Amino acid sequence: MTPNLRPDRMHTPDQALVDVVLAYVTERLSIQETPIDGFGDREEMRKALEGLIGAEPKDPAEVMGIYEKYLSETVLSADSPRFFGFIPAAPTKASLLFDMVVSAASLQGCSWLEAAGAVMAENQALRTMADIAGMPQSIGGTFVSGGSAGNLSALVVARDTARASRAANGLPLYQLQVVVSDQAHSSIENALNIVDMGAIVIPTLDGCMTREDLKRGLANQDLSNVVAIVATAGTTNAGIIDELDAAADTAESHGWWFHVDGAYGGAGMLDPEKRALYTGIERVDSLVMDPHKWWFAPFDSAALLYADPHLAKAVHTQDASYLDVIHAGDLTEFNPSDLAFHLTRRARGMALWFSLAVNGLDAYRDAVVAGNTMARYAADQIKAHPDRELIREPDLSVVLFRRTGWTAQDYDKWATDLLSQQVAFVTSSTWRGETVGRLAFLHPGTTTAMVDEVIAALN
Ligand SMILES: *Cc1c(COP(=O)(O)O)cnc(C)c1O
Repeated sequence: MTPNLRPDRMHTPDQALVDVVLAYVTERLSIQETPIDGFGDREEMRKALEGLIGAEPKDPAEVMGIYEKYLSETVLSADSPRFFGFIPAAPTKASLLFDMVVSAASLQGCSWLEAAGAVMAENQALRTMADIAGMPQSIGGTFVSGGSAGNLSALVVARDTARASRAANGLPLYQLQVVVSDQAHSSIENALNIVDMGAIVIPTLDGCMTREDLKRGLANQDLSNVVAIVATAGTTNAGIIDELDAAADTAESHGWWFHVDGAYGGAGMLDPEKRALYTGIERVDSLVMDPHKWWFAPFDSAALLYADPHLAKAVHTQDASYLDVIHAGDLTEFNPSDLAFHLTRRARGMALWFSLAVNGLDAYRDAVVAGNTMARYAADQIKAHPDRELIREPDLSVVLFRRTGWTAQDYDKWATDLLSQQVAFVTSSTWRGETVGRLAFLHPGTTTAMVDEVIAALN
């Protein structure tokens, strides 16, 4: 057989291929200020891709060239310091590089049997996060693909744990309910739909679920089928932290599961000035924080922590005869696969692990503080103008504001113009039914000059 017809020809080392891809990667990693991009003509893209995949091989340089020329710039760079829409991303250089190691070494992180070193490293990162939250020594957890997957996996455990104890007490097992705030992330509603649980929605006075809101919202309700309460540590829309201690007290007094969604805002605990806002987070039954948001790791990664991982293991362990061997070991060790609704998983916590070690926690603290400081700066600039109004003083790194006289179309134009000039990526939002401006800060490379440009465009 000639070498280029061997069945392992795709698996044979190829230095030219390595060079082509690494040249691009090296250039990308050398960028200080990632451009926002996010433009491109779909018809052009379609044409460029036409016939690219066929029976015969194509030159890697040609395919890489097509990626660079037609595809790469159409993808918005959430990791640009000028990206203020949704929740930005800002993976550290170390985390991006180690993500390549995870890929190159094909590291999976299913079980101790298959991936002891990866599980050990991921657990060290999880332990570090749990310590920052003040969670007990008993914790266990895993990294899942995102906050949505984390919230869902946790709520399944909440439901089935409740079902087990309700079955023992002869209580109904269906039409169970969860207490949530009116600001809970859409993924919570989605998860409740999937697990077939209902919501008791607590109306909040100003976006923060307070002790008073809980008291008022739960009064005169039938709570006999409630099994859990979900609080948010940093709402996505406005960066608001619920009164976690009040939610924990409520959960404790009723015997409910206490889940905190810190997908975006959990990392805000690293800011010493904000730490007190998180009091009560140490009392969670389950906690989600996304490394791919404010823990400065690449997509896709969310940390899911349980105070008692035995409960998660009892719910999520998959039984199959071919899997018996991974469950045969020490029962005090938890396999990542057994703690969420997944089986095969990329060791996606390792990029965070490497970066935490290489950079140290002080660097993480400083980067988080930078986001909060920039939000404070933006809020002050907005307040300084007579025709601009802050909706609410920012708790964390999201700023909501109103440009008096503007309609939804004006905010859209503001956003479209800023993007087409590559000044910034911004998105409007709504607050109490009104279209408002919104800026989310996360990248420590964002400068006050960048923010000034965005605010100046509110004319
Ligand atoms: C982003 C976010 C989610 C969803 O996380 P994904 O990683 O996008 O799945 C859930 N809750 C909050 C508060 C978030 O900010």
